[in-house]
Amino acid sequence: MSDIIRWTAAELADKLSAGEVSSREATQAHLDRIAAVDGDVHAFLHVNEGALAAADAIDTARAAGERLHPLAGVPLAIKDVLVTTDQPTTSGSKILEGYMSPYDATVVARARAAGLVPLGKTNMDEFAMGSSTEHSAYGPTRNPWDLDRVPGGSGGGSAAAVAAFEAPLALGSDTGGSIRQPAHVTGTVGIKPTYGGVSRYGAIALASSLDQVGPVTRTVLDSGLLHDVIGGHDPKDSTSLTDAWPSFAEAAREGARGDVLKGLKVGVIKELPDSGFQAGVAASFRASLDLLEANGAEIVEISTPHFEYGVAAYYLILPAEASSNLAKFDSVRFGLRVTPDGNPTVEDVMSATREAGFGDEVKRRIILGTYALSAGYYDAYYGSAQKVRTLIQRDFDNAFAEVDVIATPSAPTTAFKLGAKIDDPLQMYLNDVTTIPANLAGVPGISIPSGLAEEDGMPVGIQFLAPAHEDARLYRVGAALETALVDSWGAPLLTRAPQLPGGNR
Ligand code: GLN
Repeated sequence: MSDIIRWTAAELADKLSAGEVSSREATQAHLDRIAAVDGDVHAFLHVNEGALAAADAIDTARAAGERLHPLAGVPLAIKDVLVTTDQPTTSGSKILEGYMSPYDATVVARARAAGLVPLGKTNMDEFAMGSSTEHSAYGPTRNPWDLDRVPGGSGGGSAAAVAAFEAPLALGSDTGGSIRQPAHVTGTVGIKPTYGGVSRYGAIALASSLDQVGPVTRTVLDSGLLHDVIGGHDPKDSTSLTDAWPSFAEAAREGARGDVLKGLKVGVIKELPDSGFQAGVAASFRASLDLLEANGAEIVEISTPHFEYGVAAYYLILPAEASSNLAKFDSVRFGLRVTPDGNPTVEDVMSATREAGFGDEVKRRIILGTYALSAGYYDAYYGSAQKVRTLIQRDFDNAFAEVDVIATPSAPTTAFKLGAKIDDPLQMYLNDVTTIPANLAGVPGISIPSGLAEEDGMPVGIQFLAPAHEDARLYRVGAALETALVDSWGAPLLTRAPQLPGGNR
């Protein structure tokens, strides 16, 4: 396997600017890797035929002495929830098969402007609904650590692409954990920024009050570099914050070299029962807390009594918003149209199209959402869920008055086997018990690899949460712990990933 694909995005960027490697070579190395392993992993729904041309354009500009962005020439995988003009966008659904967008999502446009090379579009649960990528209409993605296991979801494609060294960087979206939970089960880093911190213009909406776009990478610094490119105010997204953000890459560098853990108050949630977590997940979490403490952090027990209602509230708010957002897939405006025999009415065409175009999980949530919003039930369901959401926000406010960050395991278990939870929606939903509260409150969260579970050898992640607007704190703390962990392991966790069939190490 070529060394190039082993480099972090930061390393590759340095070698590109030093002229030690060209963007064409780097892009070709990743395309070769995709050709070698993606038949097994299936991280990509589409590989960009224009990737080498985009790489050549960067190499030409560099040769001409143009001032380039530090990441110019580095390849990037893009979750298929983000619309792109040069490649189809499906959001993992049959209803959008072959759909070509007339415009780029803002994050994609910003990535292109910085000279990042779009490698392709990554697989995902249909419309980002799921925790395993098994709900993709195009077949599941497999976990590069063990091909019989899921890569998490909904952004399993982006996480697997990065974990399998098919891409150094990827974009994801996180509505209830779809960046952080896949990061946890694939040994990668994922960040859900503060709500409004990254534009959602051109991100196909799942639940608009929860959705955030963010980076998926192998190191905290790489996430910071990508976040710096995609983040910041976008007038095309009315929920976009106008904050001036610090450099997240700088925050990560500071964390990696400084002693930011000294005196840091890390909150651990009293109500999260140890018993709900797989033994190896709980053990890895405790080991990380010990390491934080050994580096000068103070572990403080905090109480967030309403967290346990997060999943219940989320599965009313999300379906309600999703049922409304998905109403636009009506056979008229986008994608698929199925016309039944005879003299069908418009309604007949719409229902035949939605019947054929949506998968079971999407239908389940549309039914849940329309029910929760229906006259007479609105206050009992949607209204109550919104009240719970406010209580969870208050829990966060109270907690952050006492501590700098909150730490939790990023998910209850390591990657489960394909097929294990697909017929049991509730079991699937419970994967996001620790990630969902951040979306309900709009606060940022990061998942970084914390080790391997003893019982199955699969990766485990630790999540940090910070107050809204304090994303930089997550980069500092994440990079500090990452450095301490890598020192204690002797090498990054991903170097212990098993060899992939068709690939090689
Ligand atoms: N797994 C969660 C769900 O199914 C989260 C999805 C997401 O973040 N897009 O809704």
